[in-house]
Amino acid sequence: LFSSREFKQSDTEICVKNVKFGGKRIVIIAGPCTVVDKQELFETASQISKSKAAMLRGGAFKTRTSPRDFQGLGSTALKLLHEASRAYNLPIVTEITDFRDVDLIEKYADMIQIGARNMQNTALLKAVGESKLPVLLKRGFGNTVSELLSAADYILAQGNKNVVLCERGIRSFENSTRFSLDILAIPVIKTMSHLPLIVDPSHAAGNRGLVISASKAAIAAGADGLLIEVTSHPDTALVDGDQTLTTDQFQSLMEQLEVLIPAI
Ligand code: PEP
Ligand code: MN
Repeated sequence: LFSSREFKQSDTEICVKNVKFGGKRIVIIAGPCTVVDKQELFETASQISKSKAAMLRGGAFKTRTSPRDFQGLGSTALKLLHEASRAYNLPIVTEITDFRDVDLIEKYADMIQIGARNMQNTALLKAVGESKLPVLLKRGFGNTVSELLSAADYILAQGNKNVVLCERGIRSFENSTRFSLDILAIPVIKTMSHLPLIVDPSHAAGNRGLVISASKAAIAAGADGLLIEVTSHPDTALVDGDQTLTTDQFQSLMEQLEVLIPAI
């Protein structure tokens, strides 16, 4: 496998504009699950940049469980993300759900996210493999680590060498959390693959009260960064409000992480 340590022994470093994944520094990506409002997005971007987040996340196209649920603002959201990126100097990551949107996303974003539900959507993997943008590949909640690495290979085989992996929790019988964060997948993946690996504690937890503990555990276990849902107004969020930190809680998380990792 192109993603394996047998293929390449040394850790791969991946740059998204001025942000480097897989280097010495931990990369924190933060922002709303889904872009719904310009003022909220700009307020959030301003606050997370003050708290030293490196990148801004925000959903434009959403893969919702029900077709009756809000599906995202699409290109309107991409344009708002692009504006916020320029205003606060934060590179953007946003999810792609349809291979026909690659050109559109390339125009406005700096990194393309493949969501958990699309980890084995091979048409989508091949399409982002042909993109010039780096890819954030999330582990499917019903997929093994080796299936994740094979999914990464679909992208790498097309010539796009810039893949960052993301553990975001898997489905188990336990229902006190939304998913089960697979902490040991972190050292397992770091041993099996040379690619950078970040962790999304928000979707695993499903509840903002657990996000700080999960974040600390992920960093202690060797993750190269975190993807965290944050907004200035989680109470009015249309998607994933329960697991979204307020900007104040995010600031507190960053202060607590600084104690763990002075290099942040
Ligand atoms: C997200 O990052 O907003 C998301 C939908 O995550 P996942 O694909 O991991 O469920
Ligand atoms: Mn979400």
